[in-house]
Amino acid sequence: MKLIIVVPCYNEEAVLTETTSRLSSVITRLKAEGQITEGQILYVNDGSQDSTWSLIEQLSEKNALVSGISLAHNVGHQHALWAGLEWAAEHGDATVSIDADLQDDVEAIIEMVKLYRGGIDVVFGVRRERQTDTWFKRTTAQAFYRLMQSMGSNVVYNHADFRLMSRRALQALMTFPERNLFLRGMVASLGFNTATVYYDRAERFAGESKYPLRKMLGFALDGITSFSVRPLQYITFLGLACMIISLAAIIYGIVMYFQGRVIAGWTSEMVSIWFIGGAILLACGIIGEYVGKIYTEVKRRPRYFVDKVVGEVISKK
Ligand code: UDP
Ligand code: MG
Repeated sequence: MKLIIVVPCYNEEAVLTETTSRLSSVITRLKAEGQITEGQILYVNDGSQDSTWSLIEQLSEKNALVSGISLAHNVGHQHALWAGLEWAAEHGDATVSIDADLQDDVEAIIEMVKLYRGGIDVVFGVRRERQTDTWFKRTTAQAFYRLMQSMGSNVVYNHADFRLMSRRALQALMTFPERNLFLRGMVASLGFNTATVYYDRAERFAGESKYPLRKMLGFALDGITSFSVRPLQYITFLGLACMIISLAAIIYGIVMYFQGRVIAGWTSEMVSIWFIGGAILLACGIIGEYVGKIYTEVKRRPRYFVDKVVGEVISKK
């Protein structure tokens, strides 16, 4: 049984050496225990501006377990991961995806492989607590999962992109044609036999987070709009509620008129104009999000371009 570990990397020169040694030792241990016969680390360089790629080349020269794909430009975490998974779907029996920064516990891979050997197709790595994240990241992330669930997406709580997938689960995932990728939601919707492995999330080993607030918000918005049309329904309800309220206001206005008690009413008018105006713009914005999604989907552009590859295994192909 061949295990492939896919690691997307964007400006990760500070961590890659350590990541390689930890992942290598996991592979070596799994082999020694007879859990796997072959193991491979596949780095996907997502258009880094630092020395990430030359480091991957060096690591691959020294360590036969390491191979790499370098993408022609930065396509973002989800697409970079997809690039690696596409290759892994053909060449591995089981594939683990993990971030480069060692926040996810590499030891959990051993547990994942055992579950896989027991017949599980998808093993979700779920972080036990978020003590090492900042208060801000913790609260926003929790709000995000709640929101996702209320919008009808079956994402696994506190699961990011640390998971094991069997070949057939991965090949099923590869049949998803969409360009707006939200992998954790897509994988959760696959079905198959699933299991969960809990681990403690560490701090980033080195370097800085590649997900600033702006990207995080964008990712959250993408997650919702690529999975659910419920926000559009909410807009309809909002419109309906406004109409009912305005009906009451009209009746009230007419009654007041006939009672001869018409007052200036400037304040209430201003307030409602601004409020309704804002609500309309928000509604347009949400609909625009979906129109934008349709636009990128119909263009059917390629997800990524491969610039270079390195490593014995991958070059043989
Ligand atoms: N990443 C990537 N392309 C990007 C941004 C990030 O491949 O455009 C990778 C990054 O190298 C890391 C993973 O995605 O392996 C998760 O990023 P990070 O750890 O910075 O996110 P955080 O854990 O802070 O949410
Ligand atoms: Mg991280």
